[in-house]
Amino acid sequence: MDFALSDEQTAIFDMAFAFGQERIAPHARTWEAEGTIPKDLWPRLAELGFGGLYVSEEAGGAGLSRLDATLVFEALSMACPSVAAFLSIHNMCARMIDSFGSDEMKARVLPSALSMNTVFSYCLTEPGSGSDAAALKTRASRSNAGYVLNGTKAFISGGGYSDAYVTMVRTGEDGPRGITALLVEDGAPGLSFGGLEDKMGWRSQPTRAVQFDDCQVPSEALLGEEGQGFRYAMAGLDGGRLNIAACSLGAAQAGLNATLAYMSERTAFGKPIDQFQALQFRLADMEIELQAARTFLRQAAWKLDTGAPDATKFCAMAKKFVTETGSRTVDQCLQLHGGYGYLADYGIEKLVRDLRVHQILEGTNEIMRLILARQMLTNA
Ligand SMILES: Cc1cc2nc3c(=O)[nH]c(=O)nc-3n(C[C@H](O)[C@H](O)[C@H](O)COP(=O)(O)OP(=O)(O)OC[C@H]3O[C@@H](n4cnc5c(N)ncnc54)[C@H](O)[C@@H]3O)c2cc1C
Repeated sequence: MDFALSDEQTAIFDMAFAFGQERIAPHARTWEAEGTIPKDLWPRLAELGFGGLYVSEEAGGAGLSRLDATLVFEALSMACPSVAAFLSIHNMCARMIDSFGSDEMKARVLPSALSMNTVFSYCLTEPGSGSDAAALKTRASRSNAGYVLNGTKAFISGGGYSDAYVTMVRTGEDGPRGITALLVEDGAPGLSFGGLEDKMGWRSQPTRAVQFDDCQVPSEALLGEEGQGFRYAMAGLDGGRLNIAACSLGAAQAGLNATLAYMSERTAFGKPIDQFQALQFRLADMEIELQAARTFLRQAAWKLDTGAPDATKFCAMAKKFVTETGSRTVDQCLQLHGGYGYLADYGIEKLVRDLRVHQILEGTNEIMRLILARQMLTNA
C-alpha cells in the first residue's frame, strides 16, 4: 500500500493550484458579484487538459484517473470552489458523451467540449423530483425530425449560460427504464430559461430553470440508447461525488491556511491568538479532520479507478464525510477570524456559503447514508 502521490500526480496538483491562484483567485469575488464566470476562462483551463479530464485519450481527452481528477478539483477549489465545481459538471457531461455517445456525436461534439469553446450543463432535477430523480416527468416524444420535449428542469447550474444541456427525459414507462438522455443545444426551438436564482453560495455560477415548450431536437441529439438515460446519468455520479468532495476539501484547506496566517498576526490580551492553547487544539483538530477527509476521499477514488465492487458505497461515504468536514472546518475558520471572518474582504464567509450546497447536491448527504445503509443491510 502506497499513500504517496506520484511525481506526475504532484505535478497535476501543482499545475491546477498555480492556475487557480493566478487566474481564478484574484477574480473570484468579482465573478461572484457579477453572478457569472467569464467564458474566456474555460479555454485557458482546457489548455491544461481540464476540458476532458477523464475523457479517453483516443477521443482527445486527458484520460486521467478519478484520483488524478480529485487533485485538480482540490487544487482549483483552493482558489474558488464555485468555479471548480462548475468545471466538474462540464467534465461529467463530457465523460457521458465519450462513454455512451455514438461515434457521430463524439466527432461532432467532443472537440469543442474538450477545448471548452462549448460548455455543458447536466439536467436531471425537476421542480417535483430531486432525490427521487427517477420520477422525472419531462417528456420527449418522437417526431419525424427527432424529439419534441415538454417539461422543466430545476436548479440547473449553467442554465442560460451553457452551450449544450445533457438532459434526462422520459420517453417510455414510469421509473428509471423509461428515461433517455438527449443533448439539447442552446438555441433549440422551444428552449428557454427561468430567472437567475438568488442563492446562498456558488453565486458566480448562474443557476436557472431550463424549460422545454415543444422544444425540437434532431434525432442526433439522442445520447446512446433510448431507455438507458438514467443509467448513464447515474454512472457519472460516483465520480461527481468525489469531485464535489474534493471541492470541499480544497476550499477548507485554503480556509485553514488563511486562518493560520491570520492567527499569527492577530493579537489579543498581549499575544498572537495562535498562542492560546485552546485555539491551538482547534487548529490541531481541523488538521486531523482534513487529513482524514483527504485519505478517505483518495481511497474512494482509488476504489472507483480499480473497479472495486464497493466503490459506490465508498464514494457515497466519502462525499458525506468530506463535505461535512469541509463545512465544519470553514465554519471554525470563520469563528477564529472573529468579526473579520464575517466580512467579505477576508474570504472566509464566501467559503462557508459556497461549501454548504455540497451537502445537498450530487445526491444529498441523507441519500449518501441511504446508499450506505442499504448495502450494510443487504450484507448483514
Ligand atoms: C446550487 C444548486 C445547483 C444545482 N445544480 C444542479 C444541476 O446542475 N443539475 C441538476 O440536475 N440538479 C442540480 N441541483 C439540484 C440538486 O441535485 C437537488 O437539489 C438535490 O438532488 C436534492 O433534491 P431536492 O432539492 O428536490 O430535495 P428533495 O429530494 O425534495 O429532498 C428534501 C429533503 O428530504 C431528504 N430526503 C429525500 N428523500 C429521502 C429519503 N428517501 N430518505 C431520507 N431523506 C430523504 C433530502 O435529503 C432533503 O434533506 C442543484 C441544486 C442546487 C441547490
